[in-house]
Amino acid sequence: MQALIPEIKEHLGGPFRTVGEKGFTVLASRENTYIIEFHSLPEGVAWPEEFVNMYSQKQHDGESLKVIREATDEEIKRFRIPVWVQDDDVPECCGKPMFFVGQIDDDTLCAERPKHAKMWWHDAASFYVFTCPKCLSCEAVGQQY
Ligand SMILES: [Zn+2]
Repeated sequence: MQALIPEIKEHLGGPFRTVGEKGFTVLASRENTYIIEFHSLPEGVAWPEEFVNMYSQKQHDGESLKVIREATDEEIKRFRIPVWVQDDDVPECCGKPMFFVGQIDDDTLCAERPKHAKMWWHDAASFYVFTCPKCLSCEAVGQQY
């Protein structure tokens, strides 16, 4: 599998550069649409920035993914992709990695420290909820900057 990325963000219709399979990771897919993240970009491509998730489509040749644009927040949610603050940290259950359900970011939480709390999350934390598709156990992972 290879990825085709437009050289310039303002010209999403091309020209394109080719990125080999070691240059990107598929984070999630549904039918012919994929969310991918690039690790390295060929010369002549001035975007995206690091860690930006890209919405792409599988081409008719079945061998290439064509980048359409940056993925929207809505797509990242719909494809169930955790936006990690730190390194990936997927818990396991029943011997397998758990499935990501969704995440809660600090901007939707009460940031005030509870009375008597010895420690608390400071102001840039995210909480990731996972479930096990075998036993429906749930687990949360917290991360902060
Ligand atoms: Zn389980």
